[in-house]
Amino acid sequence: MTTPEPGPRRAAHAAAAANAHPAPPRASRTGLVVAVVFLLVVLLVALPRILSGAASGPTGDDSAARPPLATSLPVPQFAVTEGVCGEDAVRAALAAGDDEAVIVAAGGGEAFRAAVVSGAAPCISLSDASRRWVVVDKLRPLDPVDAEPSSLVVPASVPSLNGGNLRQDAADALGALADGARAAGAGEVAMLSGYRSYTTQRSTYAQHVGADGQELADLESARPGYSEHQTGITVDLVACDDGCGDLDGFAASSQGAWVAEHAWEYGFVIRYEAGATDVTGYKAEPWHLRFLGPELARAYHDGSWHSLEEFFGLPAAPDYAD
Ligand SMILES: [Zn+2]
Repeated sequence: MTTPEPGPRRAAHAAAAANAHPAPPRASRTGLVVAVVFLLVVLLVALPRILSGAASGPTGDDSAARPPLATSLPVPQFAVTEGVCGEDAVRAALAAGDDEAVIVAAGGGEAFRAAVVSGAAPCISLSDASRRWVVVDKLRPLDPVDAEPSSLVVPASVPSLNGGNLRQDAADALGALADGARAAGAGEVAMLSGYRSYTTQRSTYAQHVGADGQELADLESARPGYSEHQTGITVDLVACDDGCGDLDGFAASSQGAWVAEHAWEYGFVIRYEAGATDVTGYKAEPWHLRFLGPELARAYHDGSWHSLEEFFGLPAAPDYAD
């Protein structure tokens, strides 16, 4: 303040000249005006810095304050591209591993399907073998090819003819389906095959190739790493009356007729239908039920879908890529 700059001096002089009131001694008057104007200039220059320093936090550093402001701008865009995955309830259910709750939080089976197909569900992977929306076909091997379910059980209320097992959620749903068939008077069903490991599928496929040749085997049996049975949520059923029948006899049984109509009510769909071989890559298998959970199975039924590929807008998979 002892060395005011030329600008304030000139301004002070002009202000002093315009003042019509009786003048105090000239030196004291000029010094007062210079001091007041200088204070004003200092305040004008310093105020924005003081304010921005307060906004930028303890460092008072402008360059440190700007990046957070800039990165906060795209937030609305981010929420849009996340689609249903921007919903807290969807993310929480995903993190908890509760697939059905994820689908419900996304608006139900049909809303979930539509979101996946339109790209509005980037957190949903149709390749995740631990999820009930996984799609396995000749173009979509399990990832990794020897993936295994985290836990498996022998179904409690359905006979498992070969001692096979299923994932708990599919086993529970199969029990409810068997109860439903019995209550409807359709008869008893039994599980001929449930979970099959990569190693088991290798020998299963090899048996088909040995018996029928590779071309026919590929219409009836998946190569190892490409079987839905490896997910633990797929089951082959047979009908049991006096004894249990075979796979080929299932469609003509009262149990098979009932299952074709009601499996969706228990969260299952018939994965390989007649007339869909050019999409699924397999001949019709009325005995092969794939668990999707109640929400997705209802959407599949209500939408009159005939393959999971079409349901999720995926390419047809009639043949292997190699
Ligand atoms: Zn099967």
